[in-house]
Amino acid sequence: MLDYDLHCHSTVSDGLLTPTEIVTRAAERGVKFLALTDHDNVDGLEEAATTAKSCGIELINGVEISVSWRTHTLHIVGLHIDPKNAALVEGLHHIRSGRRHRAELMAESLARAGIGGVLEGAYRYAANQDIIGRTHFARYLVETGHCKDVGSVFKRYLVKGKPGYVPHQWANLQDAIDWIRGAGGIAVLAHPGRYTAGRKAMGKSTLVELLEEFTAMGGKGIEVVTGSHTQPQYAEFARYATKFGLLSSCGSDYHGPGESYRDLGRLPDLPMECIPIWSAWQAAAA
Ligand code: AMP
Ligand code: MN
Ligand code: MN
Ligand code: MN
Repeated sequence: MLDYDLHCHSTVSDGLLTPTEIVTRAAERGVKFLALTDHDNVDGLEEAATTAKSCGIELINGVEISVSWRTHTLHIVGLHIDPKNAALVEGLHHIRSGRRHRAELMAESLARAGIGGVLEGAYRYAANQDIIGRTHFARYLVETGHCKDVGSVFKRYLVKGKPGYVPHQWANLQDAIDWIRGAGGIAVLAHPGRYTAGRKAMGKSTLVELLEEFTAMGGKGIEVVTGSHTQPQYAEFARYATKFGLLSSCGSDYHGPGESYRDLGRLPDLPMECIPIWSAWQAAAA
């Protein structure tokens, strides 16, 4: 069991628990260092930090930035960012501004497939109306009986090639890394196993090119242990971390009760050969 959980979501993006509830739950589960990493948004960090103080755990300021790279959507986690940094705040604002339009197109596309009224329905699930996303659509489609769970909605409707999927231009990779570094943070490639699996997955040679670009652009870390990796993927991405000189991160990517494979703080240790991402800020503090 690790003391660190460096990836999770609150109602500020597509999580089910408020920042206070997330931090409280993490503390109850023995997490000592928690990063809240909402999608394209840092608005939950102040509340999370206040709660963390009263629970006696350390809150690491985080964010998960949506990026378009070639034909792929990537997620870049920023850790130890200054949430007040102007360029970061402005960049995140810009990414968020496209979400409403994408949501409208998704709803139109689902309507053409015979499922109407989804836009209003999805918005009811978005506690933060600014950050409507596919998860909110999925929850609504489960509520209305179209699928049995969120995972099935994604498979049937919300991924590339399916009726509710709408391609979208997110931030570019260099900008996301620059915003994170400019805000004093460390850029981490989130859940790489998600990019190499599934129908429109990137091949291994493309993954290598991505890791080359990511490190050349100033990226420093890679998630080795995450809720969406299998055991063989822990070993696989530990090898990539070593090969590319990247620090290894771990996080549940918890979204809420009943929706996530891994609960907060319920992660196996990083493989032995990994240099943990927290060595970067421990060294800085020493
Ligand atoms: P968006 O940023 O609106 O495109 O939504 C991305 C979010 O959808 C991710 O952060 C996950 O929370 C969720 N998601 C993506 N793929 C899946 C999947 N296959 N099953 C369940 N949730 C998923
Ligand atoms: Mn999410
Ligand atoms: Mn993600
Ligand atoms: Mn996430």
